[in-house]
Order: sequence, then structure tokens, then C-alpha cells
Amino acid sequence: MAEKADSELVRRQNRLLVLGALRQHGASARVELGRLTGLSPASITTICAQLISEGIISEESLPVITPPSGKRGRPTVRLLLNPGAALVLAVKISIDDVMIVLTDFRGETIARTEVRLPTYDAGRDLFGMALADEIARFLAAQRVVPRKISRIGVAIQGLADSRSGSIVWSPAFKEGDIPVAHALEERFGVPCFVANDANMIAEGLVSADRVRYGGVTAAIFTGYGVGMGVIINGEVFHGATGAAAEFGHMNHIPDGALCRCGKRGCVEAYVADYGILRHYTGETGREAPRSAVPESTMTGLNQKAKAGDVKARAAFELAGSALGYGIGRVISILNPDRIVLAGPGLQTSELMDQAMREALEKSVVEVLRRDVAIEQVRFSDDMIIRGTVDALLRIIDRDVFAIATPQAAQALAAHG
Ligand SMILES: [Zn+2]
Repeated sequence: MAEKADSELVRRQNRLLVLGALRQHGASARVELGRLTGLSPASITTICAQLISEGIISEESLPVITPPSGKRGRPTVRLLLNPGAALVLAVKISIDDVMIVLTDFRGETIARTEVRLPTYDAGRDLFGMALADEIARFLAAQRVVPRKISRIGVAIQGLADSRSGSIVWSPAFKEGDIPVAHALEERFGVPCFVANDANMIAEGLVSADRVRYGGVTAAIFTGYGVGMGVIINGEVFHGATGAAAEFGHMNHIPDGALCRCGKRGCVEAYVADYGILRHYTGETGREAPRSAVPESTMTGLNQKAKAGDVKARAAFELAGSALGYGIGRVISILNPDRIVLAGPGLQTSELMDQAMREALEKSVVEVLRRDVAIEQVRFSDDMIIRGTVDALLRIIDRDVFAIATPQAAQALAAHG
């Protein structure tokens, strides 16, 4: 029995390797797949034959180019993921706004929509149903029956509980503990997860470049809020309940400026756009704004700082300093090889960057920080939805298609 379990485990791992290589590199010949996965030609042949018969991958023949010798060359056959093998639905919730994206098994977008859906005043028990209604309308418009969807993933700002599938706390909602996954699973009969948006950005980074982000990376988002996703050995670390790496709500100054989460002194209360703006206007103790600060306001503030406005300079320096001390703690705990700063453009504030580096120097010994690469990535809302799609596809590869069982075959038949 143990031997059988072992061979099944190996087969599962090998199938996952092949799927992962095709996902990362696109259409590949069997020889290339062997090189990418380290599997023997015999294993590649067997695994590919199985995956083809199950409809998960397919073959494409490239046209034969006749060499000058006149002898016909052999056609090049490449393997690729079958787009119809599965469909996934990624959902991004922000304040009074929902984005829904439907993609195929290759991650290509089939349809997308962005609709106004009240979140802030939605009420704990009604939001899940309202979201399910919106998704049902979207699928009906696309003429897609819900049972064709393999997985649904929901990304939110704030704290998500992956075990209960609920939003524990989010600036987009007045109330807490909003059940989401259960409502969608009940309506559509499709497994659903709820996750923090910064963790989804990290999922997207892993998919975009498995080599670059294959080690230990902390991806920090700054903008309308502050979040972090942690990648450990190429996998996003979610913590016990999905709430890992709440960098924005880590305390920076005990009893300091009021944060959107209701606590005082969080990193976010200094680094988020609203925090910087409040420090400029001197209203740090007031309730945080519900909606995001317009980017034009922040650009204007940045220009003032550049022109020498003392208050504006101080606000950016305070933000950079809070960010630097925060990153210092992250470096001390994680020993990362890379820190990615993703934001809507604020990193271009040289003042903030300089203050961040000074704080980092003051807070961490040189030997710990000298090998850490700090890079900046311009953020777009699409990074969250893209990362959610990537996470969904990785889950399907691992939990559904890596397993060659009669059940998996049945599941496939249902999708065909
Ligand atoms: Zn907070």
C-alpha cells in the first residue's frame, strides 16, 4: 500500500511539474519540457499522453519547413495548455465597487466587468447574496453556466479569514465578519476563496517570474492603503488564517496617528496617501477618509514638497521613515533577498525614498541589509486581479489536474 501511495505521489508531482512548465513557458516541445522539468523522455511521453487523453493539454504541429536539400523535415510538435480545460472567476472588491474577470485555463481573459455595488453600508448578511446576484448576471450575459466554473477567488483590502471565507475587517465595509465564500459556494456550487489583495499581488509576482521571486521576497504595497505579501521559497505565505504579513497595521508609534482600522500608530496611518495628506494638514487624530485620496492630490503635494514646502516635505519624510523602520523589522524577521515596493507612483517621491533608506540604515545592522535588493514596481489595479487568476490556476493545477484519478476524469468530462 505504501508503495502505491508513493508512486501516486510521484506521479502527482511529475504532472504538476509539466503543468507548471507549460504555464510558465507556454507551448513547448517534449524535449524542452524534459529540460525544464528534469524528467526523463519516457516520463514526459507518458505524462503528456495522459494529460492529452484527459483534455488538460493538447498538441499543435508547426508547419514543416522544407530544407534546401529537398528532404522533408519532421514537423515540430509542441504541447500547450488546453484553454477549455477549466474556467476561473476572479473578483476584486473595493469600496462600493466590484470587478469580475472570467478567464480560461491559460489565464486568457474571456470577459470582464466593473460594477457599482454598495459595500460600505451593505450589511453583514446581505452582501454575499448581492455579490452572488452580480456574478450570476455577469455569467448569464456571457452565456456561461456556473457549473462550468472550476474555482472562484475574491480579493479584498483588509483582513480575510481563509478558513471561514469571510472578510474580517476591511475599509470597504462598515461592519466586520462579512461571509462571502459560503454565499457564493451555496449559490454556484463552486469552491471559493477570499484573500487579501496584497497577497494576490505576491501571487502575481510568483507567476510572472518564478526565478526572480523563487526565494524570499516581501512585496509591500503603498497607496490608498498599505499591505504586504510574503513569498517564501517561491510560495506565497498566507499564515494560519490567511492574515499573514499585515504590514500596514503593524504598530509604528504606540498611541500615534489614528489608522483606518481603528487603532493608533499603525504604519499605514503614516504611509498611506491619507496618512501623508493628514500629516500635511495637521489632522492626524481625525477619522480617516472613507474613499481614496485622488492621485492628482498626491501629485500636487509631491510637487509642493519638491518646491520646498516645509510641511509637505515633513509629511513625505515622516512616511518614508515609517516605511523604512517597518521594512527594517521585516528584514530582521525574514532575512529576505528581495523587497518589492509597489505603489501608484508615490515611490517617485525622492524625499520619501531617501527617508526610507535612512530609517533602514538606522534600524538594521549592515550585515543583514546589504544583500537585500529593493526594487520598485508601478502598481495597477490589474495586478490584484491578475494575481488572483494566477492563484486560482495554481490551485486547479495542484488540487485537480495533478491528480489522475477517476474523479478528476469525471470532473473533466463535466467541463467538456
Ligand atoms: Zn491599522
